[in-house]
Amino acid sequence: MLPSPTVWRIALPVPLPRLFDYLPPAGDAGGDPVGARVRVPFGRRELVGLVAATGAPEPGTDPAALKQVLARLDPEPLLHGELLESLRWLARYTHAPLGEVLATALPGPLRHGEPLPDTHAWAWRLTEAGATARPGLRAGKPRRLSDLLDEHGELDEDRLDDLLEDWRSAARALAKRGHAERVAVPAVAHAPAPQPGPPLNDEQQAAVDSILAAPGFTGLLLDGVTGSGKTEVYLRAIADCLARGKQALVLVPEIGLTPQTLARFRARLGVPVHALHSGLADGERARTWAAFARGEARVAVGTRSAVFLPLAEPGLIVIDEEHDGSFKQLDGIRYHARDFALVRAKALDVPVLLGSATPSLESLRNAQAGRYGHLRLLRRAGQAQPPRVRVLDVRKRPLQAGLSPELLERIHAELRAGGQALVFKNRRGYAPVLLCHDCGWTAHCPRCSTPLKPTPMTVHAGGRRLQCHHCGTRRPAPDACPDCGGLALQSQGAGTERIEESLAARFSDFPVLRIDRGTTQKRDALEKLLAEFGTAPGVLVGTQMLAKGHDLANLTLVAVVGIDEGLFSADFRAREKLAQLLIQVAGRAGRAEKPGEVVLQTHHPEHELLITLLSGGYHAFAEVELAQREAAGFPPFAHMALIRAEAQQVELANAFLAMARRELQHTAAQRARHDGIERSALEINGPVPAPMPRRAGYLRAQLILSAPQRRELHAALDAALPAIYAAPEARKVRWSLDVDPADLY
Ligand code: ADP
Ligand code: ZN
Ligand code: ZN
Repeated sequence: MLPSPTVWRIALPVPLPRLFDYLPPAGDAGGDPVGARVRVPFGRRELVGLVAATGAPEPGTDPAALKQVLARLDPEPLLHGELLESLRWLARYTHAPLGEVLATALPGPLRHGEPLPDTHAWAWRLTEAGATARPGLRAGKPRRLSDLLDEHGELDEDRLDDLLEDWRSAARALAKRGHAERVAVPAVAHAPAPQPGPPLNDEQQAAVDSILAAPGFTGLLLDGVTGSGKTEVYLRAIADCLARGKQALVLVPEIGLTPQTLARFRARLGVPVHALHSGLADGERARTWAAFARGEARVAVGTRSAVFLPLAEPGLIVIDEEHDGSFKQLDGIRYHARDFALVRAKALDVPVLLGSATPSLESLRNAQAGRYGHLRLLRRAGQAQPPRVRVLDVRKRPLQAGLSPELLERIHAELRAGGQALVFKNRRGYAPVLLCHDCGWTAHCPRCSTPLKPTPMTVHAGGRRLQCHHCGTRRPAPDACPDCGGLALQSQGAGTERIEESLAARFSDFPVLRIDRGTTQKRDALEKLLAEFGTAPGVLVGTQMLAKGHDLANLTLVAVVGIDEGLFSADFRAREKLAQLLIQVAGRAGRAEKPGEVVLQTHHPEHELLITLLSGGYHAFAEVELAQREAAGFPPFAHMALIRAEAQQVELANAFLAMARRELQHTAAQRARHDGIERSALEINGPVPAPMPRRAGYLRAQLILSAPQRRELHAALDAALPAIYAAPEARKVRWSLDVDPADLY
């Protein structure tokens, strides 16, 4: 019998939960291909995939019918060791195809099969012929360049940029005659000498000591009030990591990666700090990836997807504002960067530091259960005092753009005293609703509303435009009511635009600056606006973009308005998010020597959440909330997954979910029988309409799975998913699975 040939099992970026078998490319003489990228024929296309395994063909397949790999793209595996194993774990955990997980994890150029980019620098030098010819050259750019190269021997391109304008055309001219050549040189890290930080206080020092004492993988929750000097603790821990010759990875929320933050890291560490964010060009992202894979780069500060960076010499992972919602990816591969960072830290055997003034209930629970070390910073660092917080009851008060006379007076007093005020409102646009005062008509999104659940369009541009914040539909606001023809159309309620308008009219002697997605489309726009705003008396109006990342030294009053909706939201995480937001926004006040004040304007001053938060702080709130989650069987005391489906007809979405439910029930029951227990602990709720039952023209429904143990949830999904993927109902809908959903929306 002939020995059966080896096949390569390849992960491809296609939405099918399996690997694909191919024959090795003709004449492949390379080593173990696992972790190498390959180009393969797939249907009528060619795809780039990664060899996940090798082995004998599946029994019953005819090897002659298998297609052959067209080309092996990496002589040495691109992914190997910890990162490859962690990504395999992520595919299992999210129940997503490995090929799609890899496509999410890799920078674009690598995903598309481009070679690992060079990370060395380029320099120029004279050839022997060039040195001989130099004295005879006429005056001009090539002569000037020759002289420079003669004088310095070899010059890297960065230096040339400084020394000679438009040196590149001169270099090309010299190279053409064989007088100069371009050579690869090791990239030298240009970074200023590190600046010393302030001496640490006792709490900070104790935290740093615990981190440095961590023997290897250790989860550490750095639970410190806003302004307590958590970043200083990170910086010391990273400096120690660098001194040991190791790399550090810092994850920050989307709004936290400001030039101010980066400048602080750069000034203090004395090595290049690589920023990774969604605005980075693909090529730059790939180069950073390569530099970390080769162990050349030392420190990365990045948003969610930076968690996929290879670490050749890992020393420490830091997650700043670990509670932040932006660490969870909401589409595609729905991973949580904090949770994946923990998995990686464990596999890499390095400490992982989770910092927050308002830790997630998951992390607090892990700290309480002894799974994380709990490091507390209870006082603000340096001179800053904690802000005073006051609830302002606005029941029966006349409101102007949602602001009460008392609040306006308080702002005015602050301005007169030379301070700055921030009015925080988490709703952008001019007004949330456009209403006809004659007949009651309101403007709804035609693509999102259902007869039972209308979705109002937000009024923008001072009343001239309507926009749906769920699907993006825009249209001009009507001049007259489409129902009754009346002209009494009114904007109801207030968003940041309207508040800005009202404050600017009232405080015309002071600058009023609005900060939200509408005013800060470009990456550095926020920085520029705040720099212009300066520290002179004035008012800022903003959404949660202002909750983090910018120290405003003269901000002494924070007014929080329009939070009442959040007090009554049905989502199980809404209260936690609201409490975190209130504490974080309040933490903006009084960051420097001047004391700060926070005013919460509400119609529900007696609400139990506000009372707990004000009297006992975030931790008192968290204790109450954890008890309620436990009683109700919600995370972190249960584990959830959400299967969502959407289709043009709701029947199709429901049919798919009903099928998924049957499969899950069936496999869960089988497993229970196998384990000799009466019934599975997996609970399945649904199909039910999604909280937004229609969006962008699609009807949406969902299935909520929950189990007290992770194991049960994953076992049921593992067993049922192949049938769910293959079912005919699946082809008629768009569906997705979200393990550990951020909310049930
Ligand atoms: P957090 O990250 O907890 O919000 P930061 O590390 O940004 O806090 O510190 C808040 C402010 O206090 C910063 O201006 C920082 O420079 C300052 N600071 C931090 N630690 C100290 C210290 N030990 N002594 C004096 N000032 C400090
Ligand atoms: Zn009308
Ligand atoms: Zn819409």
